[in-house]
Amino acid sequence: MTDEKQHRLKELQAKYGALPIEKLLEALIKTEFAGKIASFSSFGSWSALLLDIVAKIDNTTPVLFLETGKHFPETLEFVETIKSKIGLKNIIALTPDEKILANADANGTLWQINVNRCCWIRKVEPLDRHLTEVGYDAVITGRRSYQTKEREGMATIELDDQNRFRINPFAFWSKDEIKAEFNKRGLPQHPLYDKGYPSIGCAPCTRMVKPGEDERAGRWAHVADLSTGSDKQKQECGIHLDRKDVAEFAI
Ligand code: SF4
Repeated sequence: MTDEKQHRLKELQAKYGALPIEKLLEALIKTEFAGKIASFSSFGSWSALLLDIVAKIDNTTPVLFLETGKHFPETLEFVETIKSKIGLKNIIALTPDEKILANADANGTLWQINVNRCCWIRKVEPLDRHLTEVGYDAVITGRRSYQTKEREGMATIELDDQNRFRINPFAFWSKDEIKAEFNKRGLPQHPLYDKGYPSIGCAPCTRMVKPGEDERAGRWAHVADLSTGSDKQKQECGIHLDRKDVAEFAI
């Protein structure tokens, strides 16, 4: 993290950190990082809220979607629904490197034995390759601090380990606030949400949630049952982690 970036981080936090979400994102998309900012989206439940706000500011903002090749068909349909209902014009699907895939996951079953390496191949590597090629200065995420232990300490504006600004406009929003704003705007929900999937990732690594379980309990729920070297359920795919923490899974 350079001194110059640290200084700019403090300036951005002081200037915009307490603004309402629309004003915050408008300033960052149109002024501070014009042409150099993208939004991540998993196109999961509640994703439409961030995308609607971004689209209303500038519907040509790049929206990065990790097309892992392992999504539910419903998620791919939902991308099209969002495109037409919200009017996003620049959704960029990032796909795994074909050579890496052929060498390390030729039959597509790596998720059964090494989820961290599978996530690195299908998510982290394609994302980092694209971010570097384009040279974005900032990315917007829909993460909320209540979601996981790893997300608890996040700030609305922060710097990642690659010296890129990360904007988390919902960092301090509660679940109820997200739902209320989502419903107020009449946004489309992921088709699996009402079927027992409150948090949706790749199909092999997402199961239905049982009554009373945490909303992310269905993510990577198989990991604790496998001989992956860990008996702890995986919580993050890796794209939001420091790269030193996932370096061992790189190929
Ligand atoms: S979520 Fe599962 S299938 Fe998707 S990239 Fe990660 S391990 Fe592979």
